[in-house]
Amino acid sequence: MSTRRRYRNYIDGEWQETETGNWAPNINPANTKDVIGELPLSSKGETEMAITAAERALPGWRAIPAPERGRLISRAHRLMTERTDELARSLTREEGKILPEAKGEVQKTLNILEFMAGEGMRLDGDTMPSELANTFAYTVREPIGVVGAITPWNFPVAIPGWKIAPALVAGNTVVFKPASLTPETAELVVGMFVEAGLPRGVLNLVYGSGSMVGQTIVEDPRVKALSFTGSNEIGAGLYVDGAHRLKKVQCEMGGKNPVLVLEDADLELAVEGTVQGAFGSTGQRCTATSRAVVVDDIADDFVGRVVEYASGIVVGDGLTAETGMGPSVDQSQYDTVLEYIEIGKQEGAECLAGGEPLTGPEHADGYFVQPTVFDRVDPDSKLAQEEIFGPVLAVIRVPDFETGLEVCNNTRYGLTSSIYTADNSRAFRFIRGIETGITHVNSPTMGGEAQLPFGGTKATGVGMREMGKTAIDFYSEWKTVYIDYTGEKRESLFY
Ligand code: NAP
Repeated sequence: MSTRRRYRNYIDGEWQETETGNWAPNINPANTKDVIGELPLSSKGETEMAITAAERALPGWRAIPAPERGRLISRAHRLMTERTDELARSLTREEGKILPEAKGEVQKTLNILEFMAGEGMRLDGDTMPSELANTFAYTVREPIGVVGAITPWNFPVAIPGWKIAPALVAGNTVVFKPASLTPETAELVVGMFVEAGLPRGVLNLVYGSGSMVGQTIVEDPRVKALSFTGSNEIGAGLYVDGAHRLKKVQCEMGGKNPVLVLEDADLELAVEGTVQGAFGSTGQRCTATSRAVVVDDIADDFVGRVVEYASGIVVGDGLTAETGMGPSVDQSQYDTVLEYIEIGKQEGAECLAGGEPLTGPEHADGYFVQPTVFDRVDPDSKLAQEEIFGPVLAVIRVPDFETGLEVCNNTRYGLTSSIYTADNSRAFRFIRGIETGITHVNSPTMGGEAQLPFGGTKATGVGMREMGKTAIDFYSEWKTVYIDYTGEKRESLFY
């Protein structure tokens, strides 16, 4: 029998052992000899038990006034504030991002909880004048019901936070299936909501494979809404499956985010922003900068500086103070990154920095790849078109702003973008013309604040935006109310 820490499902107010007897290891990507724990591979039946519990808890939870539901989120916020260090260390150990980034992710989650707690006080509707005399017309928000939240490994604290908190505040109950690569942070996050005082069944956590636990959540008719973040490969199928069953579905998926650097940009600012965007979190952010579109006049200077920065990044275990970039999350992601580096070389792009795995003694047990910069990348090549999700930057040279904007939009994705320029006119033309859900001027492609909508266009996102007030729009239904206080029969309106 294993002595490793075993995570448990949280179903109907109880931490429960899985009945299947099947487990998968939780491995530290910086040191694969460090097996952190084991997650249960739960069954369809266990997932259905969680859905049953969520359905049973719904009437009681939705009857609690929204400000009170918000206060519960505030208590989870307080617990998370106290345990920031523990949560951040767990996150670094199982996902690989460096500790300051892990702390940054926890801080972002705290901001989300703070904002969503306040939404409990604001769950607003509209009052509209009725066409009829002596009639009061207004709208009120209602919960959708049981919500399924399916999340990826790359932001395993923030993304569950930005799904679970608004779903609960809006009066829904939740079945949460976290990514299998990051089970410990899921347990910690759910534990904080539980300790904050959630009634039994309101939030349920089920570990296991996407094809079993995830698919059961998608298919069960009692689950009325699905919020998914992850790859296009899985999200596209889930969207069809959910829509076919008339569920409300939201999918946030891949990206290929560009930064456009013009000749009048503050070059140092642009270089720093591009390097942060490309290599921060090992390029494993949905908002990572994967394409730098640079006008010819300054391209040599820009590329020279980016290469210098990239070559100076210390790659290693994210728990070590001097580390600037951690590992890829697992063998499969590591193989994918190396495969794309090979594709880039074969496509004829110039590899000016990195381009190799790190295999020395201090890197031997982790999934480490050098920060990699390709120059003179063809905008139609695979390197420029496909999501890599690793520390690989493709520089594309363009003659001018107009071509640059076209190249930025030459992708199926549309999550985020950025322009570096001192020219307001071109900055505004970029804002108008760029086909992304989020855009930045003179700052990196990454980031997103709790009070503002987050999500993408084109193949990146379908359904309503996450975070901000728009999250509440996704997690609630509108009810329109007409109150006739004439007390008399009216002529028919015929519509
Ligand atoms: P993924 O492989 O698509 O997995 C996402 C989640 O879906 C995991 O919990 C996974 O479970 C589950 N899943 C897998 N197959 C399923 C199925 N058949 N039915 C239901 N659920 C299923 O994505 P990932 O590798 O974890 O995350 C990386 C991707 O997320 C990247 O493409 C990135 O761009 C995207 N992302 C997008 C955003 C955004 O806001 N646009 C934010 C962050 C990440 P298992 O873990 O058990 O396989």
